[in-house]
Amino acid sequence: NSNRQDKDKEVNVQVLLRCRPLSEDEQRLNVPRVLSCNEHKREVTVLQNVANKQVDRVFTFDKVFGPKAQQRSIYDQAIVPIVNEVLDGFNCTVFAYGQTGTGKTYTMEGGMRNKGGDLPAEAGMIPRAVRQIFDTLEAQNADYSMKVSFLELYNEEITDLLAREDCSPRSTTEDKQKKPISLMEDGKGCVVVRGLEEEAVYSANEIYTILERGSSKRRTADTLLNKHSSRSHSVFSITIYIKEAAVGDEDLIKCGKLNLVDLAGSENISRSGAREGRAREAGEINKSLLTLGRVINALVEHSAHIPYRDSKLTRLLRDSLGGKTKTCIIATISPSAQSANQKMSKTVLLKDLY
Ligand code: ADP
Ligand code: MG
Repeated sequence: NSNRQDKDKEVNVQVLLRCRPLSEDEQRLNVPRVLSCNEHKREVTVLQNVANKQVDRVFTFDKVFGPKAQQRSIYDQAIVPIVNEVLDGFNCTVFAYGQTGTGKTYTMEGGMRNKGGDLPAEAGMIPRAVRQIFDTLEAQNADYSMKVSFLELYNEEITDLLAREDCSPRSTTEDKQKKPISLMEDGKGCVVVRGLEEEAVYSANEIYTILERGSSKRRTADTLLNKHSSRSHSVFSITIYIKEAAVGDEDLIKCGKLNLVDLAGSENISRSGAREGRAREAGEINKSLLTLGRVINALVEHSAHIPYRDSKLTRLLRDSLGGKTKTCIIATISPSAQSANQKMSKTVLLKDLY
Protein backbone atom coordinates (compact mmCIF):
# COMPACT_ATOMS: atom_id res chain seq x y z
CA ASN A 1 0.00 0.00 0.00
CA SER A 2 1.74 3.12 -1.23
CA ASN A 3 -0.20 5.36 1.12
CA ARG A 4 1.13 3.54 4.11
CA GLN A 5 4.63 3.59 2.69
CA ASP A 6 4.40 7.35 2.27
CA LYS A 7 3.47 7.59 5.88
CA ASP A 8 6.47 5.52 6.95
CA LYS A 9 8.74 7.77 4.95
CA GLU A 10 7.27 10.83 6.56
CA VAL A 11 7.71 9.43 10.02
CA ASN A 12 11.31 8.27 9.92
CA VAL A 13 13.23 10.46 7.48
CA GLN A 14 12.27 14.10 7.17
CA VAL A 15 13.89 16.39 4.65
CA LEU A 16 13.55 20.13 5.24
CA LEU A 17 14.84 22.90 3.09
CA ARG A 18 16.30 26.08 4.49
CA CYS A 19 17.17 28.96 2.20
CA ARG A 20 19.55 31.50 3.73
CA PRO A 21 19.15 35.26 3.13
CA LEU A 22 21.39 37.03 0.62
CA SER A 23 24.56 38.18 2.35
CA GLU A 24 25.39 41.88 2.54
CA ASP A 25 27.94 41.40 -0.25
CA GLU A 26 25.43 39.63 -2.44
CA GLN A 27 22.88 42.38 -1.80
CA ARG A 28 25.42 45.07 -2.65
CA LEU A 29 26.34 43.28 -5.86
CA ASN A 30 22.67 42.85 -6.71
CA VAL A 31 23.08 39.12 -7.10
CA PRO A 32 19.81 37.87 -8.55
CA ARG A 33 17.72 35.37 -6.63
CA VAL A 34 16.89 32.18 -8.44
CA LEU A 35 14.92 30.54 -5.69
CA SER A 36 11.60 31.29 -4.20
CA CYS A 37 10.22 29.54 -1.14
CA ASN A 38 6.62 28.89 -0.30
CA GLU A 39 6.61 27.78 3.31
CA HIS A 40 2.89 27.20 3.38
CA LYS A 41 2.91 24.89 0.35
CA ARG A 42 6.26 23.40 1.42
CA GLU A 43 7.60 24.15 -2.04
CA VAL A 44 10.69 25.72 -3.46
CA THR A 45 10.73 27.02 -7.00
CA VAL A 46 13.96 27.22 -8.95
CA LEU A 47 13.71 29.89 -11.62
CA GLN A 48 15.72 29.13 -14.69
CA ASN A 49 16.11 30.84 -17.98
CA VAL A 50 16.58 28.37 -20.82
CA ALA A 51 16.95 29.85 -24.31
CA ASN A 52 15.21 33.04 -23.16
CA LYS A 53 12.31 31.13 -21.77
CA GLN A 54 11.48 31.11 -18.11
CA VAL A 55 11.43 27.50 -16.94
CA ASP A 56 10.43 26.99 -13.33
CA ARG A 57 10.97 23.79 -11.49
CA VAL A 58 9.14 23.07 -8.29
CA PHE A 59 10.37 20.78 -5.50
CA THR A 60 8.41 19.71 -2.46
CA PHE A 61 9.90 18.99 0.96
CA ASP A 62 8.52 17.99 4.34
CA LYS A 63 9.04 21.57 5.41
CA VAL A 64 10.42 24.67 3.75
CA PHE A 65 12.01 27.59 5.59
CA GLY A 66 12.57 30.81 3.65
CA PRO A 67 15.31 33.42 4.19
CA LYS A 68 13.43 35.10 7.05
CA ALA A 69 13.05 31.93 9.11
CA GLN A 70 14.64 32.23 12.54
CA GLN A 71 16.74 29.53 14.18
CA ARG A 72 14.14 29.25 16.89
CA SER A 73 11.25 28.53 14.58
CA ILE A 74 13.21 25.86 12.71
CA TYR A 75 14.19 24.30 16.02
CA ASP A 76 10.66 24.37 17.41
CA GLN A 77 9.10 22.88 14.31
CA ALA A 78 11.71 20.32 13.33
CA ILE A 79 13.99 19.40 16.20
CA VAL A 80 11.84 19.54 19.34
CA PRO A 81 10.01 16.29 18.42
CA ILE A 82 13.35 14.61 17.69
CA VAL A 83 14.84 15.55 21.05
CA ASN A 84 11.65 14.25 22.70
CA GLU A 85 12.25 10.90 20.99
CA VAL A 86 15.81 10.85 22.31
CA LEU A 87 14.54 11.55 25.82
CA ASP A 88 12.17 8.60 25.33
CA GLY A 89 15.16 6.34 24.73
CA PHE A 90 15.63 6.35 20.96
CA ASN A 91 18.64 7.21 18.81
CA CYS A 92 18.14 10.07 16.37
CA THR A 93 20.24 12.00 13.89
CA VAL A 94 20.02 15.52 12.49
CA PHE A 95 22.08 16.32 9.38
CA ALA A 96 22.90 19.65 7.80
CA TYR A 97 23.41 19.04 4.10
CA GLY A 98 24.25 21.55 1.40
CA GLN A 99 26.93 23.35 -0.55
CA THR A 100 29.69 25.20 1.25
CA GLY A 101 28.53 28.68 2.21
CA THR A 102 24.82 27.88 2.36
CA GLY A 103 24.53 27.88 6.18
CA LYS A 104 25.14 24.34 7.47
CA THR A 105 27.37 25.43 10.36
CA TYR A 106 25.19 28.46 11.03
CA THR A 107 22.16 26.17 11.27
CA MET A 108 23.84 23.61 13.52
CA GLU A 109 25.96 25.83 15.75
CA GLY A 110 25.05 29.47 15.11
CA GLY A 111 25.89 31.67 18.08
CA MET A 112 26.52 29.50 21.11
CA ARG A 113 25.69 31.64 24.13
CA ASN A 114 25.42 35.12 25.49
CA LYS A 115 27.44 36.38 28.42
CA GLY A 116 24.55 35.77 30.80
CA GLY A 117 24.34 32.16 29.66
CA ASP A 118 21.01 32.46 27.87
CA LEU A 119 20.66 31.50 24.22
CA PRO A 120 21.11 34.25 21.63
CA ALA A 121 18.63 34.47 18.73
CA GLU A 122 21.31 33.07 16.39
CA ALA A 123 21.86 29.97 18.51
CA GLY A 124 21.66 26.96 16.24
CA MET A 125 20.21 23.48 16.60
CA ILE A 126 23.00 22.08 18.82
CA PRO A 127 22.88 24.64 21.66
CA ARG A 128 19.08 24.59 21.54
CA ALA A 129 18.97 20.80 21.76
CA VAL A 130 21.33 20.90 24.74
CA ARG A 131 19.08 23.44 26.42
CA GLN A 132 15.91 21.41 25.78
CA ILE A 133 17.51 18.22 27.12
CA PHE A 134 18.62 19.81 30.39
CA ASP A 135 15.39 21.78 30.85
CA THR A 136 13.28 18.66 30.35
CA LEU A 137 15.34 16.43 32.62
CA GLU A 138 15.42 19.04 35.33
CA ALA A 139 11.68 19.71 35.09
CA GLN A 140 11.09 15.96 35.48
CA ASN A 141 13.52 15.85 38.35
CA ALA A 142 15.05 12.88 36.53
CA ASP A 143 17.94 10.78 37.74
CA TYR A 144 20.20 10.92 34.71
CA SER A 145 23.71 11.01 33.40
CA MET A 146 25.03 12.24 30.11
CA LYS A 147 28.14 12.06 27.98
CA VAL A 148 29.15 13.84 24.82
CA SER A 149 31.63 13.22 22.03
CA PHE A 150 32.66 15.41 19.13
CA LEU A 151 34.54 14.01 16.17
CA GLU A 152 35.49 14.90 12.68
CA LEU A 153 35.69 12.69 9.65
CA TYR A 154 38.09 13.75 6.92
CA ASN A 155 39.20 11.52 4.10
CA GLU A 156 37.62 8.52 5.85
CA GLU A 157 39.71 9.17 8.93
CA ILE A 158 38.31 10.02 12.33
CA THR A 159 39.79 12.79 14.47
CA ASP A 160 38.68 13.40 18.04
CA LEU A 161 37.82 17.08 18.40
CA LEU A 162 37.80 16.75 22.18
CA ALA A 163 41.15 15.02 22.65
CA ARG A 164 43.47 17.19 24.67
CA GLU A 165 46.91 17.33 23.21
CA ASP A 166 49.70 15.98 25.38
CA CYS A 167 51.99 18.98 25.66
CA SER A 168 54.38 17.61 28.27
CA PRO A 169 58.04 18.00 27.25
CA ARG A 170 58.54 14.25 27.25
CA SER A 171 55.82 13.55 24.74
CA THR A 172 57.06 12.62 21.31
CA THR A 173 55.77 14.08 18.09
CA GLU A 174 53.83 10.87 17.65
CA ASP A 175 52.11 11.33 21.00
CA LYS A 176 51.08 14.78 19.95
CA GLN A 177 49.53 13.47 16.77
CA LYS A 178 46.02 12.14 16.84
CA LYS A 179 45.43 8.84 18.50
CA PRO A 180 44.20 6.24 16.05
CA ILE A 181 40.48 5.81 16.37
CA SER A 182 38.75 2.68 15.20
CA LEU A 183 35.16 1.67 14.73
CA MET A 184 33.84 -1.55 16.18
CA GLU A 185 30.47 -3.15 16.74
CA ASP A 186 29.63 -4.75 20.04
CA GLY A 187 27.63 -7.68 18.65
CA LYS A 188 24.32 -6.14 19.73
CA GLY A 189 24.31 -3.75 16.82
CA CYS A 190 25.77 -0.91 18.85
CA VAL A 191 28.68 1.11 17.54
CA VAL A 192 31.77 1.49 19.65
CA VAL A 193 34.34 4.09 18.68
CA ARG A 194 37.57 2.96 20.25
CA GLY A 195 39.94 5.68 21.35
CA LEU A 196 37.29 8.39 21.32
CA GLU A 197 37.05 10.78 24.25
CA GLU A 198 33.61 10.74 25.85
CA GLU A 199 33.09 13.43 28.43
CA ALA A 200 30.56 13.18 31.20
CA VAL A 201 28.62 16.42 31.43
CA TYR A 202 26.46 17.87 34.15
CA SER A 203 25.23 21.19 32.81
CA ALA A 204 24.35 22.94 29.57
CA ASN A 205 27.16 25.45 30.11
CA GLU A 206 29.66 22.64 30.35
CA ILE A 207 28.52 21.32 26.97
CA TYR A 208 28.81 24.78 25.42
CA THR A 209 32.40 25.01 26.63
CA ILE A 210 33.16 21.58 25.14
CA LEU A 211 31.49 22.56 21.89
CA GLU A 212 33.50 25.75 21.64
CA ARG A 213 36.68 23.79 22.25
CA GLY A 214 35.83 21.32 19.46
CA SER A 215 34.75 23.96 16.97
CA SER A 216 37.86 26.02 17.51
CA LYS A 217 39.92 22.93 16.78
CA ARG A 218 37.97 22.60 13.55
CA ARG A 219 38.65 26.22 12.66
CA THR A 220 42.36 25.77 13.32
CA ALA A 221 42.43 22.79 10.99
CA ASP A 222 40.75 24.99 8.41
CA THR A 223 43.44 27.63 8.45
CA LEU A 224 46.14 24.98 8.22
CA LEU A 225 44.53 23.08 5.41
CA ASN A 226 42.57 24.84 2.73
CA LYS A 227 38.99 23.62 2.33
CA HIS A 228 39.33 21.35 5.30
CA SER A 229 35.95 22.20 6.80
CA SER A 230 34.17 22.05 3.47
CA ARG A 231 35.46 18.51 2.98
CA SER A 232 35.04 17.17 6.48
CA HIS A 233 32.01 15.96 8.42
CA SER A 234 31.61 16.78 12.08
CA VAL A 235 29.54 14.63 14.40
CA PHE A 236 28.47 15.87 17.82
CA SER A 237 26.79 13.16 19.90
CA ILE A 238 24.95 13.35 23.20
CA THR A 239 24.12 10.09 24.98
CA ILE A 240 21.62 10.28 27.82
CA TYR A 241 20.97 7.63 30.46
CA ILE A 242 17.81 8.07 32.47
CA LYS A 243 16.97 5.92 35.47
CA GLU A 244 13.39 4.78 35.08
CA ALA A 245 12.69 2.51 37.98
CA ALA A 246 14.31 0.08 40.30
CA VAL A 247 13.35 -3.56 39.78
CA GLY A 248 14.58 -5.49 42.79
CA ASP A 249 18.16 -4.30 43.21
CA GLU A 250 18.53 -3.54 39.53
CA ASP A 251 17.99 -0.16 37.96
CA LEU A 252 16.07 0.12 34.73
CA ILE A 253 17.93 2.57 32.53
CA LYS A 254 16.59 4.25 29.42
CA CYS A 255 19.27 5.28 26.96
CA GLY A 256 18.92 7.64 24.02
CA LYS A 257 21.44 9.19 21.68
CA LEU A 258 21.29 12.34 19.58
CA ASN A 259 23.77 12.87 16.74
CA LEU A 260 24.10 16.32 15.21
CA VAL A 261 26.02 16.16 11.96
CA ASP A 262 27.48 19.03 9.94
CA LEU A 263 28.21 17.32 6.62
CA ALA A 264 30.93 18.08 4.09
CA GLY A 265 29.87 20.49 1.33
CA SER A 266 27.59 18.75 -1.13
CA GLU A 267 29.65 20.19 -4.02
CA ASN A 268 32.00 17.32 -3.11
CA ILE A 269 29.54 14.87 -4.54
CA SER A 270 28.52 16.10 -7.97
CA ARG A 271 26.26 13.59 -9.61
CA SER A 272 28.49 13.01 -12.56
CA GLY A 273 31.55 12.92 -10.34
CA ALA A 274 30.02 10.37 -8.08
CA ARG A 275 29.06 8.02 -10.86
CA GLU A 276 32.11 8.37 -13.06
CA GLY A 277 35.81 8.77 -12.56
CA ARG A 278 35.98 12.19 -11.01
CA ALA A 279 35.16 11.07 -7.50
CA ARG A 280 38.14 8.79 -7.54
CA GLU A 281 40.32 11.71 -8.54
CA ALA A 282 39.24 13.46 -5.35
CA GLY A 283 40.35 10.46 -3.32
CA GLU A 284 37.95 9.11 -0.76
CA ILE A 285 36.71 12.50 0.32
CA ASN A 286 33.23 11.87 -0.93
CA LYS A 287 32.80 8.31 0.09
CA SER A 288 30.91 9.01 3.30
CA LEU A 289 28.63 11.58 1.70
CA LEU A 290 27.93 9.34 -1.25
CA THR A 291 27.24 6.33 0.95
CA LEU A 292 25.03 8.36 3.27
CA GLY A 293 22.86 9.24 0.26
CA ARG A 294 22.63 5.57 -0.66
CA VAL A 295 21.82 4.50 2.89
CA ILE A 296 19.07 7.10 3.19
CA ASN A 297 17.65 6.05 -0.16
CA ALA A 298 17.73 2.40 0.83
CA LEU A 299 16.00 3.19 4.13
CA VAL A 300 13.30 5.26 2.49
CA GLU A 301 12.72 2.55 -0.11
CA HIS A 302 12.71 -0.15 2.57
CA SER A 303 15.42 -2.06 0.73
CA ALA A 304 16.54 -5.38 2.11
CA HIS A 305 20.19 -4.31 2.01
CA ILE A 306 21.30 -1.07 3.61
CA PRO A 307 24.94 -0.36 2.67
CA TYR A 308 26.04 0.89 6.12
CA ARG A 309 29.39 -0.83 5.84
CA ASP A 310 30.49 1.13 2.78
CA SER A 311 31.72 4.23 4.63
CA LYS A 312 32.94 5.38 8.02
CA LEU A 313 30.14 7.88 8.53
CA THR A 314 27.40 5.33 7.94
CA ARG A 315 29.16 2.73 10.11
CA LEU A 316 29.50 5.31 12.82
CA LEU A 317 25.82 6.22 12.68
CA ARG A 318 24.55 2.71 12.09
CA ASP A 319 22.73 2.45 15.42
CA SER A 320 21.11 5.82 14.79
CA LEU A 321 19.90 5.44 11.22
CA GLY A 322 16.97 3.25 10.22
CA GLY A 323 14.72 1.04 12.31
CA LYS A 324 12.87 2.97 15.00
CA THR A 325 15.23 5.93 14.84
CA LYS A 326 14.21 9.30 13.46
CA THR A 327 16.34 11.19 10.98
CA CYS A 328 16.03 14.81 9.99
CA ILE A 329 17.97 16.28 7.09
CA ILE A 330 18.13 20.05 6.94
CA ALA A 331 19.11 20.88 3.40
CA THR A 332 20.61 24.34 3.20
CA ILE A 333 20.65 26.39 0.02
CA SER A 334 21.51 29.92 -1.06
CA PRO A 335 19.02 32.05 -2.98
CA SER A 336 21.60 33.49 -5.36
CA ALA A 337 22.28 32.70 -8.97
CA GLN A 338 26.02 32.26 -8.51
CA SER A 339 26.75 28.63 -9.21
CA ALA A 340 23.19 28.09 -10.36
CA ASN A 341 24.22 25.03 -12.32
CA GLN A 342 25.64 23.30 -9.32
CA LYS A 343 22.60 24.22 -7.40
CA MET A 344 20.39 22.59 -9.94
CA SER A 345 22.23 19.35 -9.65
CA LYS A 346 22.13 19.62 -5.90
CA THR A 347 18.43 20.15 -5.97
CA VAL A 348 18.07 17.09 -8.14
CA LEU A 349 20.28 15.16 -5.78
CA LEU A 350 18.17 16.18 -2.83
CA LYS A 351 15.12 14.99 -4.62
CA ASP A 352 16.97 11.69 -5.08
CA LEU A 353 17.87 11.61 -1.42
CA TYR A 354 14.26 11.98 -0.54
P1 ADP B 1 28.50 26.33 5.53
O1 ADP B 1 28.75 25.78 6.89
O2 ADP B 1 27.37 25.64 4.82
O3 ADP B 1 29.72 26.40 4.67
P2 ADP B 1 28.08 28.79 6.96
O4 ADP B 1 27.18 28.30 8.03
O5 ADP B 1 29.49 29.01 7.29
O6 ADP B 1 27.98 27.83 5.68
O7 ADP B 1 27.40 30.11 6.37
C1 ADP B 1 28.04 30.97 5.46
C2 ADP B 1 27.80 32.43 5.88
O8 ADP B 1 26.41 32.76 5.77
C3 ADP B 1 28.19 32.69 7.31
O9 ADP B 1 28.75 33.98 7.39
C4 ADP B 1 26.88 32.63 8.05
O10 ADP B 1 26.89 33.39 9.24
C5 ADP B 1 25.89 33.17 7.04
N1 ADP B 1 24.55 32.57 7.17
C6 ADP B 1 24.22 31.31 6.82
N2 ADP B 1 22.92 31.06 7.02
C7 ADP B 1 22.40 32.19 7.53
C8 ADP B 1 21.08 32.59 7.97
N3 ADP B 1 20.04 31.74 7.90
N4 ADP B 1 20.93 33.84 8.42
C9 ADP B 1 21.96 34.70 8.48
N5 ADP B 1 23.22 34.40 8.09
C10 ADP B 1 23.45 33.17 7.63
MG1 MG C 1 30.56 24.97 7.68
